[in-house]
Amino acid sequence: MKPMIGVTMDMAEGQKQVVQEAYIDAILHAGGIPLLIPAGVEKDAKQIEEVLDGLVLSGGDDVDPYFFEEEPCIALGKVTPERDAMEIALTRQFLNADKPILGICRGMQLLNIVCGGTIYQDLDTQYENPLLQHKQKAAKSHGSHAVTLAPASVLHRIAGRDVIRVNSFHHQAVRDIASPFFVTGQTSDGVIEAMESTKHRFVVGVQWHPEELSEAGDPISQKLFDLFVKKCSKL
Ligand code: MN
Repeated sequence: MKPMIGVTMDMAEGQKQVVQEAYIDAILHAGGIPLLIPAGVEKDAKQIEEVLDGLVLSGGDDVDPYFFEEEPCIALGKVTPERDAMEIALTRQFLNADKPILGICRGMQLLNIVCGGTIYQDLDTQYENPLLQHKQKAAKSHGSHAVTLAPASVLHRIAGRDVIRVNSFHHQAVRDIASPFFVTGQTSDGVIEAMESTKHRFVVGVQWHPEELSEAGDPISQKLFDLFVKKCSKL
């Protein structure tokens, strides 16, 4: 049996819920079955968790700062309350069940918020130190900045080296990291770019978009999906 992987959908303009095909391709390529999860199913999070083997929290718009007890700052982007509700309910459910979660970009921030952490609502206006460019203008396939990986991390094991280059399309980032996470990747400006749980079998967050790098042929990014899907397989 191939593992069934839920992929959370994004709220696009015009009442559309969408998912970038690169997530689907990366999961298929890793041997999993991707299943799309729309907003509106939060009341049935438990039932959904029971039939799925893993969860990908995909990228998207900003998480409502209400969930980390802040008022919206001036540079906050679009929030999508329906999506927040669905993803928060599912994330809680998967964490409780100790089923694998891969949080990508917004998904990593959401993981941190669900566990009681905070994020920068907007790096440009809230970050304390000079920043690298985290909203790259190059294509998604391009690794624009370096990330230094923590030695004893899933990502370091996959990459087999201390520094990788990744793409960057975010104006928010993890601020106070919540237990049970620890920082597993950072840029030279100190921005947290990856984290993983110390308490779960596989709960990993990355601030970049490995699905796009994988699509462009980056072996490390595909290995991340391969390992995630493997961890989702029934023992
Ligand atoms: Mn970045």
